[in-house]
Amino acid sequence: MKVNAIVLAAGSGSRMKSKTKKQFMTIKGKPVIWFALNAFQKSMVDEIILVTSKEDVDYCKNIIKKYNLTKVSSIIEGGKERYNSVYNGLKETKCDYVLIHDGARPLINQQIIDNCINGAIKYKACVAGVPVKDTIKIVDEKGIVIDTPPRNQIWITQTPQAFEDKLIREAYENIERSDNALITDDAMVVEKYGNAKVHFVKGAYDNIKITTPEDMDAAERIICSNLQKIEKI
Ligand code: C5P
Repeated sequence: MKVNAIVLAAGSGSRMKSKTKKQFMTIKGKPVIWFALNAFQKSMVDEIILVTSKEDVDYCKNIIKKYNLTKVSSIIEGGKERYNSVYNGLKETKCDYVLIHDGARPLINQQIIDNCINGAIKYKACVAGVPVKDTIKIVDEKGIVIDTPPRNQIWITQTPQAFEDKLIREAYENIERSDNALITDDAMVVEKYGNAKVHFVKGAYDNIKITTPEDMDAAERIICSNLQKIEKI
């Protein structure tokens, strides 16, 4: 059984308002993208496909060499939207199961990776996530509440998202031929164009995606606190 991971780092990260893209900013001296790559390097994943922008390919090559990330088998160019980057990655990989992960989520861990691999084997399509703790409201463009969906039916959706390779490949081939507006994750592609039900597997509340400067501070705090715990053992 071959399991590959596609790690996405081709976003421009405009909401970070920083000259350095969020995936290349550093935490404890290491680029954000290193944390996810290192987690997959240590896992049972066979190969890692790193997707980045054309201008960052050389920088990524240096990171891989410097940190000896031997499982990275290719670095390829991303596309305009996230789903374009994923599709470019899928064209590059051939395996039984594929995990798709946002490079901007450095707090991924071995337990989450294992949950996703097992979920993909069991269900063909799964996403890491956690139930929401807050009440969520649907609002209109003026900020007026339209609806309050039942809280027990709402989950925060994270990555990795893991799939049988054939299933996700066919679903992505279908969106190429359809209206693909507002595709924000891979599960949506399977929900709309795939041939399986998507199941949740256990993610973690701290498996955050770095989007704004506050997220960067939070990720740094969590990583430092995790390191302190390891040092105490
Ligand atoms: O933009 P957002 O934060 O949702 O991006 C999630 C992940 O997808 C990030 O790791 C980002 O680098 C990646 N991405 C990509 N190609 C794009 C847009 C986003 O690889 N065109």
